Amino acid sequence: MRLITKPDSWSNWSGRQSASPRLVGQPEHEADFSTLVTAAREQGLTVRAVGASHSHSRVAAPDGALAVTDGWQGLIDVDTDHQQATFRSGTRIFQTGPLLHPHGLALRNQGDIDKQSLAGATATGTHGTGPALQNLSASIRRLRIVLASGEIVECSHDDNPEVFEVARLSLGGVGLVTGLTLDLRACYRLHERVWLEHPDTVMPRIDELVAATRHFEFFWMPERDRCAVKTLTETDAVALPASADPRRERLGWSHEIISSIRDERHTEMEYAVPAERGPACFVELRAMIQQHFPELTWPLEYRTLAADDLWLSPASHRPTVTISAHQDITLDDRPLFEACEEIFRRHDGRPHWGKVHSCTGDELAQMYPQYRAWWAVRDRLDPDGVFVTADLSAVRPTTQPDRSDAHV
Ligand SMILES: Cc1cc2nc3c(=O)[nH]c(=O)nc-3n(C[C@H](O)[C@H](O)[C@H](O)COP(=O)(O)OP(=O)(O)OC[C@H]3O[C@@H](n4cnc5c(N)ncnc54)[C@H](O)[C@@H]3O)c2cc1C
Repeated sequence: MRLITKPDSWSNWSGRQSASPRLVGQPEHEADFSTLVTAAREQGLTVRAVGASHSHSRVAAPDGALAVTDGWQGLIDVDTDHQQATFRSGTRIFQTGPLLHPHGLALRNQGDIDKQSLAGATATGTHGTGPALQNLSASIRRLRIVLASGEIVECSHDDNPEVFEVARLSLGGVGLVTGLTLDLRACYRLHERVWLEHPDTVMPRIDELVAATRHFEFFWMPERDRCAVKTLTETDAVALPASADPRRERLGWSHEIISSIRDERHTEMEYAVPAERGPACFVELRAMIQQHFPELTWPLEYRTLAADDLWLSPASHRPTVTISAHQDITLDDRPLFEACEEIFRRHDGRPHWGKVHSCTGDELAQMYPQYRAWWAVRDRLDPDGVFVTADLSAVRPTTQPDRSDAHV
């Protein structure tokens, strides 16, 4: 691997975030990740990996050494008996469908797009929609990770459980993930239906609509005051019924149907609120936007997510509704996002790690009960802060970690 010492600057997908790494490497072998960490340590640099750089927040911003993972993609192993597969960490989500399908397997769920890398998506808790479906990080069974020492460690619930706990949703702050073993399921087909409906008729039926399908979501479009509702139902059918409306319905394998193409550059904030507070939170956001941002042309997206047990997951230990607000990339997002954030936080919201938020470390410690424990374990694994960039350091809680919390 060639290490570039005068690299170009880095910017994220939206162009809103940029940074100037001092050293860049593109690993093509697992040992290259260790080489990069060792070289960075020798030069006193922090280390960050990037996948698709699709995070709206500065969670991926490199201020020292940067590992670009595009040269480290593909399937390593498939275990059809246990419905698991191991991927190289830079594998993009859109690559997984064609790789898994010949083995009769598929991801359990996917998000709104499929451009992200597996390591990048899981490092921020990327999720799709469905009240019984957890985020992608929760499907990790095993990880291989290069720690600050340069050592490559295997971890799972049984092996190195402390490393596993902090690394499966890591904010990039624990080490460089080289491989991920994911829990999968048998391939499945989905029937998509989309329609426009007024929010005043959607919201009274919201529980029924969410319960009726595997995946339910809507985009509320403020300028039309209409919801674009989308449902995905599992089906054995191989073709749409004759009665289907092809403008509003599609049918295909899960990896062909779940994700969309979102090419219009935007910036985004998302919070996860307790599921029972989702409808009231949406109603308040809608009223606030109608009153204060009548010119907004970007939607609110409303999704559901099953609870999990990850320390930093926005859905940790609670069934969840996620709501995201979008703003045009040419506009100042602060007025809209500040107004949304005030409502999200009154509804006990937790921010998406890959999207814009303004929380301090102490505020995050209030929202995430294991936040200080995560920092305590992270610091034990990396006492010199090799993986603590200035942006990660900015959300370190000021209160001392409670060491008694920090055991798995
Ligand atoms: C158009 C668009 C649509 C989106 N849709 C959704 C959605 O439907 N659901 C949702 O939840 N989110 C969504 N997001 C957010 C996105 O999924 C997350 O920000 C995700 O983290 C991006 O993945 P990435 O590969 O681009 O990671 P990056 O942004 O490159 O990195 C994210 C984090 O992962 C770390 N990382 C990357 N690779 C490694 C590695 N090998 N080892 C250790 N750490 C690593 C980085 O250091 C960083 O901390 C969307 C974003 C955009 C721009």
